Amino acid sequence: MVYTTGSFEGMKSLNQSTILNVIHNQGPISRANIAKLTKLTPPTVGGLVNELIDRNLVIEEEALQTNGGGRRPIMLSINYSAYYIVGVYAAAEIIRVVLSKLNGEIIFDYVQKLATLPKEEEFIEMIKENISYVLEEKEVDKKQVFGIGVAMHGLVDPDKGIAIFAPHLQLRNLPLKEILEKQFDIPVMIENDVRALALAENWFGQGQGISDFICISVGRGIGSGIVLNSEVYKSSFNTAGEIGHTVVDINGPKCHCGNNGCLEACASETAILDRLDEELKLDQDSILKNRLENNRQELSIDLLFKAAREGDALTIKILEESGKSLGIATANMINLLKPSKIILEGQIFKDDFVFNPLQQMIEQYSLKGAQEEIQIVRSELGKKGMVLGAVTLFINKLFMPGGL
Ligand SMILES: [Zn+2]
Repeated sequence: MVYTTGSFEGMKSLNQSTILNVIHNQGPISRANIAKLTKLTPPTVGGLVNELIDRNLVIEEEALQTNGGGRRPIMLSINYSAYYIVGVYAAAEIIRVVLSKLNGEIIFDYVQKLATLPKEEEFIEMIKENISYVLEEKEVDKKQVFGIGVAMHGLVDPDKGIAIFAPHLQLRNLPLKEILEKQFDIPVMIENDVRALALAENWFGQGQGISDFICISVGRGIGSGIVLNSEVYKSSFNTAGEIGHTVVDINGPKCHCGNNGCLEACASETAILDRLDEELKLDQDSILKNRLENNRQELSIDLLFKAAREGDALTIKILEESGKSLGIATANMINLLKPSKIILEGQIFKDDFVFNPLQQMIEQYSLKGAQEEIQIVRSELGKKGMVLGAVTLFINKLFMPGGL
């Protein structure tokens, strides 16, 4: 088989990704043990391993100890530094581009903050420029890049590589895969940001070794990534996971989707800030009233949490109500799918103001069998979770037989 360096054309053999998977999980490992574990014949393993060595993806080293027969076996490991993956996280407020090794270790991280909403052409240009910048800064040749993974908010069709609808960026039907592949001549994968995050949690975070869990991400919007039977569930429409538009209060505030009382309209960062602003307009008592007297633009989640920590009753009430709405939606999801873990992502979970009422509502509204213990945890991947998810699209493809 002839490989085209830097592309996946030569990597499509299922046996080869099976071998990569075994070396990734069990390495350093000998050829004989790979044959035993994969049930492939030793000559097949030998041939495929040699190809991986030629490609520099696998490296050989002599074992430190003999296997009893006096000869030290040759052990195989993955060369995680041989190639790179570019990860892109595109949201309304930032474009983040990272360069990662094949094990998800980020070696360069560039964040561009967006002050105003970019037009479609500007948005595409920014992504292209940022990717070029990261590659140039680290002097990486395109042939060394396995792929560019993109995590994008909103509805995404990963098969077609299209951002169907990104509400916060006001973009529709953007063929991002085609555009970036044309520009860089590198394979591109695109996925919804929270589904990408769920994949990152599965590989590197709180979802490791767990076959069924749900990631719920709260920022300007609210989304979820559902992992069932060790796979990220997408549905045949590729749009599964929109927990933000499940309704928690039919008389609730208007959502940008057109309905009333969606979770996103009740509990997202935007909803929390809007609610506080409204209460202040009604002259409700709060320590933020004086602090923001002349400039409501300065109202931020940070400032709001600071007020809550200082005991500001209005802020605490608003955060509690957000937590309750999130708890109801999560309890509904738990009753439907019975995941063994819920992973919460977002800065609003950093203190207990939102987290505790959320947990109480889950306790109250989810039906549990005697043996069922559902863990509710915070993501530990931090702000890099989404962009790591973008990188993981390719890590998953490389190391999982038939991955993604
Ligand atoms: Zn909605």
